Amino acid sequence: MTITSSPTLAYPKLCALLARTPTRFSQVMHNAVFRELNLDYVYVAFDTEETDAAVSAMRTLGFRGFSLTIPHKERAVGLVDLLTESAREIGAVNTIVNHGSRLSGFNTDWIGIERAVQEAGVDIEGGAVVILGAGGAARAAVYASRILKASLITIVNRTTERAEKLAGEFGVAYAPAEALQSVCKDAKLIFNATPLGSHLATSSVHLQPRFETLRRECAIFEMVYGPTDFVRSAQAARLRTITGDRMLLYQAVEQNLLFTGMEPEDNYARIKNIMEARLKQEMSLK
Ligand code: NAP
Repeated sequence: MTITSSPTLAYPKLCALLARTPTRFSQVMHNAVFRELNLDYVYVAFDTEETDAAVSAMRTLGFRGFSLTIPHKERAVGLVDLLTESAREIGAVNTIVNHGSRLSGFNTDWIGIERAVQEAGVDIEGGAVVILGAGGAARAAVYASRILKASLITIVNRTTERAEKLAGEFGVAYAPAEALQSVCKDAKLIFNATPLGSHLATSSVHLQPRFETLRRECAIFEMVYGPTDFVRSAQAARLRTITGDRMLLYQAVEQNLLFTGMEPEDNYARIKNIMEARLKQEMSLK
């Protein structure tokens, strides 16, 4: 049975983040938009590993929208009623919208990547891209790199078999960790799509090219939000860096438009500005 709110009682629409050890960033950005645009929505966070039970609760309790992060994105693909083309291809859902108990799964991570790369003025068309990692974020990076017309995409992962599997799925290249330096040599963009440097990192195994040996034009995309050692080392070698907070911001703007159904033409800039200011404030508290 689905619980519906009574027309005589006004309840806010509920949105939530499902995560293992959620950070506050999504919550503060979405709630700032709801508050400043006077929308009757509330965004909360759940620290859970139970994807199936949480998605089932979304139907039962009538949640409007979910944001999903580690470890939920890949599992959620099989739990929604409709899947966008990009979410299907990427094989990961980071956004679910509930329309009268029919759940639609989206992936806004790849849009966050595309916007952050464009904003930084990094042009990878016809160039080589290296992706470190083979999880959900790496999948979005492969998809975005294709949209941005990279001509050679190489996946390097701690566990080479996973890199090989992902490369096979997308028809791109992979290389073992020992070949990292040589595949990065001519890269225009290198993504760190591993959690190393984040609060989720549990081991010290690392994949990091010697930045000082890379081409001057090479840019580094760090998906983790804060100023990690990866970013600091790239900056020390005078390479351009794109940090995870830009991706986080842009994927959240897309997500907010999906949750609220607002027209992007009229609202994109307003939502972006509100979220950007709030994210900046929150990050300065870290
Ligand atoms: P995931 O599915 O769990 O995949 C993690 C990947 O990182 C795997 O390929 C894993 O290798 C590798 N890895 C883990 N620990 C490592 C270590 N110590 N050294 C080397 N490789 C390691 O995670 P995900 O969803 O792809 O997320 C990856 C990171 O991107 C997370 O930090 C996440 O927060 C971030 N992210 C940021 C945004 C944003 O908006 N900025 C969006 C999405 C994700 P194995 O295959 O060997 O286990």
